[in-house]
Amino acid sequence: MTKKDTTGASAPDWLHEAIFYQIFPDRFANGDPSLDPPDVVAWDSRPTRTNFFGGDFLGIEQHLDHIVGLGANALYLNPVFQAGTNHRYDTEDYFAIDQRLGDRKGFGRFLAAAHQQGVKVVLDAVLNHCGAGHPYFADVTARETQSAYVVAEEWREPEQWLQGDRCDGTMNYTMRALLLGFTADRQIDAYELAQGMNQLRDRIPAGFRHGMLNLLGSHGTERVLTRHRGHRGRCLLSHALMFASQGAPMVYYGDEIGLRGPNDPGCRAAMPWDETVWNQRMLESLRSLAKLRSTSVPLRRGSQDYVALDPDTVMVVRDLPDERVVMVAHRGDGVRLSPESIPLERAWTLLSSGADGLRLGRGGFTVLTGRPAMVPALVGSSPGTDR
Ligand code: CA
Repeated sequence: MTKKDTTGASAPDWLHEAIFYQIFPDRFANGDPSLDPPDVVAWDSRPTRTNFFGGDFLGIEQHLDHIVGLGANALYLNPVFQAGTNHRYDTEDYFAIDQRLGDRKGFGRFLAAAHQQGVKVVLDAVLNHCGAGHPYFADVTARETQSAYVVAEEWREPEQWLQGDRCDGTMNYTMRALLLGFTADRQIDAYELAQGMNQLRDRIPAGFRHGMLNLLGSHGTERVLTRHRGHRGRCLLSHALMFASQGAPMVYYGDEIGLRGPNDPGCRAAMPWDETVWNQRMLESLRSLAKLRSTSVPLRRGSQDYVALDPDTVMVVRDLPDERVVMVAHRGDGVRLSPESIPLERAWTLLSSGADGLRLGRGGFTVLTGRPAMVPALVGSSPGTDR
């Protein structure tokens, strides 16, 4: 049974539209070397738990075109306040911006530049320490919690944090575990994935489902491509499922160009700006997925059902009253879908990869739209706009 939202509260509406890009500020771009600490290391150095690379607000500002070009319209910044470490989770003063990143003016210029490009900025901070009335937050949506550990623990019981007075959403580590269990580790099959995703949906109050921050990797996990053992096709499949799912997708900086690295500190390498080392196919694929989501209302605002078609093939069904979008994702070596298994009338294709019509190749997926049609697989799940 769906958990009742007794408060009537909900996450902000704009989160329906959000595609996040997560930045670890010390590692994204160095725009102002004069701010670098004395012990700064070369940009291509190996990340350690203690070294500083010199990333700053000006660097982010100078590369907003890359972020917007990917299709993101929101930034999630790991801590930016005064602290003694490169990750700044030991924040000393929530009223002071870390001087290595820029001063208050520089932060303001960066915010203005981001907003001019339609990019919202979300800070990783504890509101209890500074209050929503602080000037920094007048133009910034702040949320999330003090340490990566707390965030990591939150996911076990997301509903506790979503009662309307604590935060708008949580890092969706449960979804991450399910998707990667299907595409990377293969510890679960499509039936278990569908059951897990539908149970997770039912645990989250309806008004907060679109506010979940969906992610495949972060500053506190191994890189998503590394989790897929360098297998780009499977890695892309996990992204396809994330972009098709309810909740705001979030890309961790560098994942879009195929960065690899083990868990902290290896996942915090500096973003390379020499585009010849980028995985352009991954970048183009993620741009396509972001564009798909930004042009499809059901993918942003529709209800969601996951349905398994066979152990290696899962279907994500996103519904508005008059329009349904279906993504079918296949992790096996190839499958031919029967038209009867697709719950659409007069379907047409929005996007596909490794697919020829209803024939999906290895790691292929296809995204179809049309009017809802009843199929046996969906009988039993209750209709509605937010089930
Ligand atoms: Ca710098």
